Amino acid sequence: MISFENVSKKYQDGTAAVDSISFTVQKGEFFVLIGPSGSGKTTTLKMMNKLIPLTEGFIYINGKKISDYNIHELRWNIGYVLQQIALFPHMTIEENIAIVPELKNWQKDKTRKRVTELLQMVGLEPEVYRNRKPKELSGGEQQRVGVVRALAADPDIILMDEPFSALDPISREKLQEDIIHLQKAIKKTIVFVTHDMNEALKLADRICLMNHGKIVQVGTPEEIIHHP
Ligand code: ADP
Ligand code: ADP
Repeated sequence: MISFENVSKKYQDGTAAVDSISFTVQKGEFFVLIGPSGSGKTTTLKMMNKLIPLTEGFIYINGKKISDYNIHELRWNIGYVLQQIALFPHMTIEENIAIVPELKNWQKDKTRKRVTELLQMVGLEPEVYRNRKPKELSGGEQQRVGVVRALAADPDIILMDEPFSALDPISREKLQEDIIHLQKAIKKTIVFVTHDMNEALKLADRICLMNHGKIVQVGTPEEIIHHP
């Protein structure tokens, strides 16, 4: 589904953020990138949907070279959840979730049904929440909307960059449970960045350990615990 072959990223100031990494993420897998701050996790994630260009190597998405993808095609089929809440403040919750479906010209009824379904999925009563503005929601609720917004148009792949790190421990735990259930239900390919090993062990099918722009180890949580 996602394959990196000797991929490197050097920023214009000379920083070698990612240094010849290779790995494959299987369809339906929950793949967690973990490592200390500055180890290259975010850079790796951003290269997967062409938010930044790679310097060397090849990335394949569904067998097709990333350089051969039209940027819209790629963005529409890859959902992206950021660390900081990024809902549009002047739009309602429903409008925020409907952004990509509208870009794809979905019928109004279909979009509305989808919004209802997504809000229910993360325990937000649709009739209470759909017409609210983001500032009328708690941080944890906003982040839940951010997560389901990335799922709205049914992308094949979802990229998440420390989506829960700004939350209090209780909201964080609730969202971790939500995302485990979501992934079981929708069987999407998820690439999830964190620096929290407990979070990685809880969520991952496989964990990819990074340090100084290189991959140190890739394995299941059991393998990571028993062969650190
Ligand atoms: P690219 O090579 O992807 O175009 P750039 O090297 O142009 O990226 O960097 C984009 C911007 O980020 C620049 O203004 C750069 O100065 C700035 N930047 C530099 N160092 C860092 C850093 N450590 N973290 C985030 N941004 C940085
Ligand atoms: P992580 O997500 O693991 O914290 P990053 O991928 O954000 O790591 O950063 C990897 C390295 O690249 C760090 O040394 C960081 O300072 C540097 N870096 C990130 N963005 C930029 C940028 N735009 N320009 C220059 N250096 C950057």
